[in-house]
Amino acid sequence: MTTDPQHDLFARARAVIPGGVNSPVRAYGSVGGDPRFIASGSGPFVTDTTGQQYVDLVMSWGPGLLGHAHPEVVEAVTAAARHGLSFGAPTESEVELAEAIRDRVPPAEKVRMVSTGTEATMTAIRLARGATGRDLVVKFAGCYHGHVDALLAEAGSGVATFGLPGSSGVTAATAAETVVVPYNDVEAVEAVFAERGSEIAAVITEAAPANMGVVPPEPGFNAALRRLTADHGALLILDEVLTGFRVGPAGWWGLDGAAGGEVTATGSEPWNPDLFTFGKVVGGGMPLAAVGGRAALMDLLSPSGPVYQAGTLSGNPLATAAGLATLRLADDAVYARVDRVADAVADAAAAALEAVGVPHRVQRAGNLFSIMFGEEAARDAVWDYAGAQAQDAFRYPPFFHAMLDAGVALPPSVFEAWFVSAAHDDDAVEAILAALPKAARAAAAA
Ligand code: PMP
Repeated sequence: MTTDPQHDLFARARAVIPGGVNSPVRAYGSVGGDPRFIASGSGPFVTDTTGQQYVDLVMSWGPGLLGHAHPEVVEAVTAAARHGLSFGAPTESEVELAEAIRDRVPPAEKVRMVSTGTEATMTAIRLARGATGRDLVVKFAGCYHGHVDALLAEAGSGVATFGLPGSSGVTAATAAETVVVPYNDVEAVEAVFAERGSEIAAVITEAAPANMGVVPPEPGFNAALRRLTADHGALLILDEVLTGFRVGPAGWWGLDGAAGGEVTATGSEPWNPDLFTFGKVVGGGMPLAAVGGRAALMDLLSPSGPVYQAGTLSGNPLATAAGLATLRLADDAVYARVDRVADAVADAAAAALEAVGVPHRVQRAGNLFSIMFGEEAARDAVWDYAGAQAQDAFRYPPFFHAMLDAGVALPPSVFEAWFVSAAHDDDAVEAILAALPKAARAAAAA
């Protein structure tokens, strides 16, 4: 036993849970120190088991668009719980949630609900293979799509944080069915299609990557993927697990595809993917994710089609209640507030680092942002995983800990986005801004 209760709890956790955590990045592996064990959350704050409160910029890695424990979401979940926790039978609320998703993202004509983003991307890939009769999947280096065997190669998020090339336990045969190409490199995608086009079932991409730090698509990149996949009879899977219903009412697709993501001689051309994957915000903090797409394609899923997919807890009534309440509350004012908070924090972080001469760039994709440290990033925006990995990552741990000491919980890895919420009021933003200058000095001294 020590005098530090968080340290003791982490030791207890490590004795019974691998690494002491149920998802790797939580362990503070790349920033050092003991993770904070959270006892409660409210609005923009989390409180650890010692009673210390932090302004939270993790927000459960995305779901907390409205802040923690929004009273109306908690009430919706509580009311649902009183009626029963799980039935393994269809419910009205899952129909309502599917309709709410389709209303916001019309090309998601039909929706299948699952419990995690990983299941959503796994299902999308199986569906693409079933629909095309092809085996290969193309993914981008630095994009993270959950811990699906076929998608761990050069993945972002925890795989990037811990510097892994992929994962042990993935068979060589599975790895050989995934082709990894550099992000934002249309020529590399064209080359893969030129060589193996008839074998490719799908290209899967984060709608706007935020798992290697934030690396937005160059204008027209997603539209180019749409064109190339269509030309070769492959499907485009747009992974909006992180961006969906967070960067705007219709996710990144709403800002890019629906708005006309490619400017051509005749104007801007809207585009739709074949399949979407959603997660995080759509479950309002409960375990819920979804695959959506064209009806004819989605109907290939069992029981209407031959591609098997199932789940005891899929469409769980508490999860659908949380998702529905969240989507109902997430109106234009919510997105406007989240955008304003993102602007304020991103600009202040840049100004604080600038003031002490730390070379860096704050990268943005809608209301998502992260800092890339280093001269190279300062000179030119980072457009791919190699660029993200080349940054001065050593500056982040002291920056992170200075913020934590000042009561602000940042994501414990430089390869993750910062998440703000509509509950970050002016006081919460002020607390973040007040902490930044000292953190910038700590980064400068690294
Ligand atoms: N896709 C993306 C883009 C993600 O960011 C994540 C999780 N961070 C996933 C898929 C996997 O979701 P889950 O952790 O719920 O399995």
